[in-house]
Amino acid sequence: MRILMGGCNQEISTFNPVPCEYEFFDFIRGEEIREAAVGTNSTYGGAIAELEAEYGDDLELIFTYDAEGTAAGPLRHSAFLKIADEFLEPLKEHAGKIDGVYFSMHGAMGTTEELDPEGYLLEEARKILGDEIPIVISMDLHGILTAKMLENISGLASYHTYPHVDFEDTGRRAAKSLIRILRDGAKPIAARVRIPTLVRGNELITETGAFGAQIRYAKELEKHPEVMSAGMFICNPFTDVPELCCQPFVFTDNNQELAEEAVLKQATDFWPNRNIMQGQFTSLEDSVSQGAQMAGPVAFYDAADAPSSGASGDSVEIVTEMVRANYPHTILTSVVDPAAVAKAHEVGVGETFTMGVGGALDSRFAPLKLDWTVQSIANNSNIKMETWKFRLNPGPTAVLVSGNLTAVAMTKSLMMVDRTVFFDNGCDPKNYHSTIIKTPHAEPEFFDNWVEAKFNVDAIGSTSANLPTLGHTVCERPMYPMEPDTEFTPKTEVFSRG
Ligand SMILES: [Zn+2]
Repeated sequence: MRILMGGCNQEISTFNPVPCEYEFFDFIRGEEIREAAVGTNSTYGGAIAELEAEYGDDLELIFTYDAEGTAAGPLRHSAFLKIADEFLEPLKEHAGKIDGVYFSMHGAMGTTEELDPEGYLLEEARKILGDEIPIVISMDLHGILTAKMLENISGLASYHTYPHVDFEDTGRRAAKSLIRILRDGAKPIAARVRIPTLVRGNELITETGAFGAQIRYAKELEKHPEVMSAGMFICNPFTDVPELCCQPFVFTDNNQELAEEAVLKQATDFWPNRNIMQGQFTSLEDSVSQGAQMAGPVAFYDAADAPSSGASGDSVEIVTEMVRANYPHTILTSVVDPAAVAKAHEVGVGETFTMGVGGALDSRFAPLKLDWTVQSIANNSNIKMETWKFRLNPGPTAVLVSGNLTAVAMTKSLMMVDRTVFFDNGCDPKNYHSTIIKTPHAEPEFFDNWVEAKFNVDAIGSTSANLPTLGHTVCERPMYPMEPDTEFTPKTEVFSRG
């Protein structure tokens, strides 16, 4: 049994004006994919374990190419074409000599020209590998499943958890679909219903929120002998592409009626909850004026400029309001601004310069012009995340101080879901009254457990949870919550590779 494995993973925010470059990705080739995955909670790790358990010594895994990019602005199209070429080229030498394929994908990619990159990769892979080869994929539940993808795959598994913890399990479920096709001759029939809503907020947390009901139902469905896989995509609302929407899916073994019935139930159950599945926030002015009255500490979450969601990380909207309002307490923030960092490195520690900081990448943010004193500078290109232990590269950094405001300035944007960039620059948030955190939420121990209050601030930005402020132009309309009166008549779409 010869199974080919590869992948391409990224999610983007269409509204981040900074295109993502080829160099932003990590590439793993050949056996290194296995080495990086075996025994880890990863989709590859799960798929490998499941296939090994089924086929033992009869299994030969062929690892090709894996491209991993964290969230960012739209991928530059020329970079995507290069990645697509590197993804597809190795398939050619194996065409006709393999039994099945597993691809690990996120599903929320977008390039400056191609609005369905995963669909493109799967369609091209299908052309190379032929119609007969089963291709199964795994996806993030924030992915955007498209007709082109469904026309070219034989099986699909998506995460059943948010926050995501079931990477290995998802890989195993994808592999199980592949095994059912190869061993049992299953004939996949998929159904989906596209629901015209975008969603955000705490009700999507699968353990505690309303969305959990859809996941529990999908898991029940997966116990049915004729169901190969089931799940529900809540999509990444920042990836403005034609098929952006929420959608349940079911793959059955040749039972169209069951597939359609199940997705219709999922869609009808989900729709009434669309209004509670939206972000909850406090206005910029109110959060700052309330924070000013508090003894502290206070956490200000700036979900609108969250690099982990695909934003540029250079907003100074909240601190600008604090400066305007003469905020009476100490403030700590992070900001991506290569020019400010370069200036700090040029003048040196202890020196002062006057400059607009912030808004370096996204023109919707106005720079905050102040006299900045350089408290420290650093060149740590390889820092370890407090939460997921990944390595990050902020490029050169500088700590800039102006009055009661301390800004950790970075050259490159990176995930700010914990305290990594603060600690790495000698700043402990516990030593400040108020901290601005560029993420929709963080693990409780990082901030929430020890602050007096936290605000989900309704600031502007390319990943704002206030979805109607983003300016979608590509996805189908009407779409809730942009059009609050959106009506929905559930309609199934069926795809068959039987
Ligand atoms: Zn996700």
